[in-house]
Amino acid sequence: MVIPIKLTKRQEEILEIVKAAGPITGKDIAQKLSLTRATLRPDLTILTMSGNLEARPRVGYFLNEDTEMNLKVAKFSKQIVKDYKAHPIVIQKSASVYDGIVQIFLEDVGTLYAVDQNGHLAGVISRKDLLRAAIGNKNLDDLPVSVIMTRMPNIVTIKQEDTLMDAAKKLIQNRIDSLPVVREIDSDSHTYEVIGRITKTTITKAFLEMIER
Ligand code: ADP
Repeated sequence: MVIPIKLTKRQEEILEIVKAAGPITGKDIAQKLSLTRATLRPDLTILTMSGNLEARPRVGYFLNEDTEMNLKVAKFSKQIVKDYKAHPIVIQKSASVYDGIVQIFLEDVGTLYAVDQNGHLAGVISRKDLLRAAIGNKNLDDLPVSVIMTRMPNIVTIKQEDTLMDAAKKLIQNRIDSLPVVREIDSDSHTYEVIGRITKTTITKAFLEMIER
């Protein structure tokens, strides 16, 4: 059994070496890291005691089966939004609900981000927001999306330096499908530029990539 521990950078390096070259002796691991055997000993002890590594006399260290998954999860949790964000689909907040509906079909997305005349994030419009507006409203051409959108300061956003795990948590905690990736222009006045989007699909894809890699 592997006891989940927070791996240090060096411990992660050791596991990567053993993954690639195991079974491998402590001496050879030390050599690959340009360290002495003595310097490495505490890390090898921690990794063995926690079950991440198994050691066999005269054979060397090899990975526990579960360790590989732990390594993948450790890597996954460090992935950042910047490397996964998709292109944001934006609409002027003065545009009509009718145009919004056309745009989600044309762009094949579930959420639109509304921007003001300066191009700054003003609102979020989801599929259900549009459906709700369409029920009982005949003049969708005359109804601006700004009336039906979820607006600032209630928009949940993410920054590109944040991790994909942060994004996943925000999506689940707020029960929403997508997060605008923003660059802050002025936090006091909630002024943000939209530079991308992270959706539940983004997270699912990244997760699949991690498993299959
Ligand atoms: P749908 O409404 O199509 O199920 P969502 O679950 O994403 O899609 O949206 C639910 C509600 O939350 C909608 O009213 C939408 O405007 C709002 N919403 C969606 N994304 C965000 C966000 N990032 N921040 C704040 N509110 C959001």
